[in-house]
Amino acid sequence: MNFKDMSKQEIIDYVNGIRKKYEGKIAIPAHHYQNSDLVDLSDLVGDSYKLAVDCAKLSAEFVVFCGVRFMAEGAAVLAKENQRVLHPDPNAGCPMADMISEENAKTAFDKITKLSNKPIAPIVYMNSYVDMKAFCGERGGTVCTSSNANKIVKYYLDNGFNVFFSPDHKLGINTARELGLKDDEICKIKRDFSFEGNPATARMFLWDGFCHVHVDFNVEDVAAVREKYPEIKVIVHPECIEEVVNASDISGSTQKIYNEVINSSDDVKWAIGTEINFVQRLADNNPNKVIVPLRKSLCHNMAKINLVNLAEAIESIDEYYTNGGKLINEVFVKNEYKENAKIALEKMIEIVES
Ligand code: SF4
Repeated sequence: MNFKDMSKQEIIDYVNGIRKKYEGKIAIPAHHYQNSDLVDLSDLVGDSYKLAVDCAKLSAEFVVFCGVRFMAEGAAVLAKENQRVLHPDPNAGCPMADMISEENAKTAFDKITKLSNKPIAPIVYMNSYVDMKAFCGERGGTVCTSSNANKIVKYYLDNGFNVFFSPDHKLGINTARELGLKDDEICKIKRDFSFEGNPATARMFLWDGFCHVHVDFNVEDVAAVREKYPEIKVIVHPECIEEVVNASDISGSTQKIYNEVINSSDDVKWAIGTEINFVQRLADNNPNKVIVPLRKSLCHNMAKINLVNLAEAIESIDEYYTNGGKLINEVFVKNEYKENAKIALEKMIEIVES
């Protein structure tokens, strides 16, 4: 079908019609940063941790993942034998995940291991590709998300390890500060493998990556919104720079931001420092509250998923069932990575749920 020529409502009706036809066999998870049309159509909504846990419990035969590629890959790693994962646009990547490769991680890890005063546990942020998750799983490390970074890092520090944290330097340093680490216990490892800090005393080694959506927020934005609304509460994502986190009232994962705002009384005003689709939806769905973006910052990759490419993925499932047609944009994870990536993801769930 040519979905590009169809109205929004016609596409929504089509997707719902196919889901009804194969009742229970197609699940659509969506990340909070997806646009509202996709979120409204989805079966599950959440941040990357919630989606990883919830997707692992799905029994649907097909999972059509609305989010960026590393999230769809994560769902494919945790998928059951009979499950297949489709990603509506494989070009929806993540610039932060691209900031570290398995090869660079190996070089950094070997260098750190020689200089560190303790064994190293590699911890990779969920916002990474499967090779990096496998790299960590293979070396006794794990994955973390912004909702559990604190607990995961603490677990390894308490168990006699120093930590190699990648790719997000900002989440790393904000986590280090929350855990009370001092300057000489934090060492940045730059992309040319030089150090900023003292590797001999460091407890956390932080790779030099960042999310352009979140480093866009600055302390002037916080000051400006406080001037405009003197009573406002500023809540930001920990991928923001340290100065912005320090200037805000609360920092936390997308799910934490959602819960704080939803559960607050209507007289609390909020300025939110994270992706604009999510902030706008919170504002639209809560007309009784004052909710403003700290600045409008869009993730262009999340925005690549839309009703048209979702409907195309769903159509290919229909073709597959009716005449054995080829699925489009199915996510395949190389076997060489799958097992160790799964070990890393399951270790995260084990530490968090313990
Ligand atoms: S918001 Fe940042 S970390 Fe998340 S997918 Fe977009 S670029 Fe990547």
